[in-house]
Amino acid sequence: EKFKDGLLKTRTNFSTRVNDLVARYRKIDEDFFEELEEILIQADVGFETVMELVEQLKFEVKRKNMQDPKEVQGVISEKLVEIYRGEDSAASDLNIQSEGLTVILFVGVNGVGKTTTIGKLAHQFKSEGKKVLLAAGDTFRAGAIEQLEVWGERAGVDVIKQAAGSDPAAVMYDAIQSAKAKNADILLCDTAGRLQNKVNLMNELEKVKRVIEREVPGAPHEVLLVLDATTGQNAMIQAKTFKEATNVSGIVLTKLDGTAKGGIVLAIRNELHIPVKYVGLGEKMDDLQQFDAEKYVYGLFS
Ligand code: GDP
Repeated sequence: EKFKDGLLKTRTNFSTRVNDLVARYRKIDEDFFEELEEILIQADVGFETVMELVEQLKFEVKRKNMQDPKEVQGVISEKLVEIYRGEDSAASDLNIQSEGLTVILFVGVNGVGKTTTIGKLAHQFKSEGKKVLLAAGDTFRAGAIEQLEVWGERAGVDVIKQAAGSDPAAVMYDAIQSAKAKNADILLCDTAGRLQNKVNLMNELEKVKRVIEREVPGAPHEVLLVLDATTGQNAMIQAKTFKEATNVSGIVLTKLDGTAKGGIVLAIRNELHIPVKYVGLGEKMDDLQQFDAEKYVYGLFS
C-alpha cells in the first residue's frame, strides 16, 4: 500500500496520459507510437529503454495483428517487466553477512537523502533484531554530524563521530573498532557528498574504502549510491560520475513520492546496469522499501 501511495504522482501522470492516448486513437499507427514514446520519455524512462520497449511493442502488435490501441495498453507493462527480467531478479537484496560485521558505505551528493536513508535503514535493521552502528563520515558539510545523530536517536542506534572537519578515514577507523568491540552486526557509513571536484571525491572515497578494506576483510559489503528521483536526468549524470569514481554496488532512489517522473528507476536499472536496491517514498522512518521491478511496473498501471 505504501508503495502504491508513494507512486501516486507517477502513476496518475502515466496512466492518465496512456489512457488518454489509447482513447484518442482508432488504430495503431506510427503517430500512436511516437506519442507513446513522448509520454515515456517525459516520465524519465530513458531514451534507450523507451526505444527498446517501443521496438518490442511494434513487433508484438505485428505478430498478434492487433488493431485496437487498447490492446497495446496491457502489453506495455508486460514488455517493461520483461526488459527487467533480463537483469538479476535477486539483485535488490543487500549483501548482509550471516556472521560478523557487515559494512555498508553510502555515497551521493548533498541533499539527495543520504542521512535520511541511513536512518531509515538503521531502523529496519534494528527492528530485525540486528545491532547497528552509524559512522559520521561526512565531516565536511556543516550540520551533517548533528543530523545523523538526530536519526541515530530516532532509530535508537549509536553514532560514532569526531569533530567537524576531521579526517573521514579516521572516523571510519574509529567506527570499525567500536563496531568490533560492541559486536555490532551492521555499520552504516555516511560520507561527504561534494562533487565539485571529481579527483577529490575519488581520493576521499578511496581513502575511506582502504581503511574499511584493511580493517574488515571483504568489506565494504555494499557501496550504495543515493540519488534523488526528482532531479531526473541529473541523477543519471551523478550515477555515471560515481560509477567512474568508485564501484557502486547498488542504488537507493529517494523522493519517488515527490515526482510524477518515476520512470527514472527504469532508466537507471536498464541503462547503467546498477541494481536499484531501495526506494525512498517519504520523509518518515518507515518510508523506505526494497525495490521490486515487477511490483513497480504493474503499480504504474493499476
Ligand atoms: P543528505 O544531504 O543527502 O544527507 O540528505 P538528507 O537526508 O538530509 O535529505 C534531504 C531532504 O530530503 C530532507 O528534507 C529529507 O527529509 C528529504 N528526503 C529524504 N528522502 C526522502 C524521500 O524518500 N521522500 C521525500 N519526500 N523526502 C525525502
